[in-house]
Amino acid sequence: MRRKMVVGNWKMHGSLVQNESLLSALKSGAAQLSHVDIAVCAPFPYLAQLQQQLSASSVKWGAQDVHQLEKGAFTGEVSAAMLADFGCTYVIVGHSERRSIYGEDSRLVAEKFSAAQQAGLIPILCVGETLQQRESGETEAVVAEQLDAVIALVGVQALRKAVVAYEPVWAIGTGKTASPDQAQSVHAFIRQRVAGHDEQVAQGLVILYGGSVKAANAPELFAKADIDGGLIGGAALVAEEFLGICRAG
Ligand code: 13P
Repeated sequence: MRRKMVVGNWKMHGSLVQNESLLSALKSGAAQLSHVDIAVCAPFPYLAQLQQQLSASSVKWGAQDVHQLEKGAFTGEVSAAMLADFGCTYVIVGHSERRSIYGEDSRLVAEKFSAAQQAGLIPILCVGETLQQRESGETEAVVAEQLDAVIALVGVQALRKAVVAYEPVWAIGTGKTASPDQAQSVHAFIRQRVAGHDEQVAQGLVILYGGSVKAANAPELFAKADIDGGLIGGAALVAEEFLGICRAG
C-alpha cells in the first residue's frame, strides 16, 4: 500500500519573514497528519532556513532543480552534493517551467535525476503535456518519452527511490485542474509503462498529480486509484490551503 504524499513547490516565491510563519504553521499542522508524507521545495537561498526550522518536524524539504554534474566551472549552478549537505531529501527535476523556459530536454532531465540519486537525494520527476499536445492526441506519447528517457539512462530499478509527478502544463497556475478521470487515466498509463519493465517497481511508485490543486479539489483527485498525492504550486504558499490538501491525503 502506497503512502499518500503532498509536496509544495514554492517556485520563486518567499522571503525569510514569510517563510518563517508559513513553516511554523506547517510544522504544527503536520504534527497531526502522520498518515501523509509532506515536503516543501524552496528556492536555494532558503534551504538553510528549512533545515533549521524543520529539523524537529516530520515535514521534509527539497530543492527545485539541480545541476547534472558533480562540480566544476558552472557559474550560478548548484550540485546535488550541495543539496545533500543541507539535509535535502528531495529535488524536483524536469519541471515544465524548466523544460519550456530553460529548454531542458528529457536527456538532460534524466542526467539530473541520476545526479540527484547519486548524492542520495530522491528526485521528483515531472512529466506532462501541453494543451496543444493534448488536443492533438499526443499526451501518452509525450509522457512516455519523458519517462522513457529516465528509464533508459538509470534503469527501472532506480524508480524505487524516486517520485513521479504528472503535471499537465495547461493545468499549471491556470486554475484549470485536470478532471480526476483525466488525471487518473495518465497516472494509470505511467504505472503501466513502468510495469512493462517491473511490476513491483510500478506498484510501489508514488505518482503525484500537479496543476491547480486546492483543498477543495484534492479529495476527489486523491481518491483515484493511481493518484498518490499532489505537487502543489500556488496553494502551497498559504498554510491553511496547503494543510487542507495534506488532510485530503
Ligand atoms: P499550481 O498548483 O500553481 O498550478 O502549480 C503546480 C506546479 O507547477 C507544481 O509544481
